[in-house]
Amino acid sequence: MADPTYGIEHQKRREELLPAAYGTPCPRCGDVMLASDDLDLGHTIDHALDSHAVGDRIEHASCNRSAGAKLKSTLERYKPSRIW
Ligand SMILES: [Zn+2]
Repeated sequence: MADPTYGIEHQKRREELLPAAYGTPCPRCGDVMLASDDLDLGHTIDHALDSHAVGDRIEHASCNRSAGAKLKSTLERYKPSRIW
């Protein structure tokens, strides 16, 4: 499923990096990534931390999305309760 957060550049970059990623360990969980796995273009610098971060590596879709969701909820929790 296409992620509406990212544009065509993101999709293109994913297509470029995908072939070289097969058979290499996922940067998030360390398990080998297979052509049959659902793979995403991920970010070395998480998108939740830097909205200008560019996707630069392939990771399992499940690893990428759960890490993103976890980080987002952590950031919400530590958000200051008032504006200075
Ligand atoms: Zn993984």
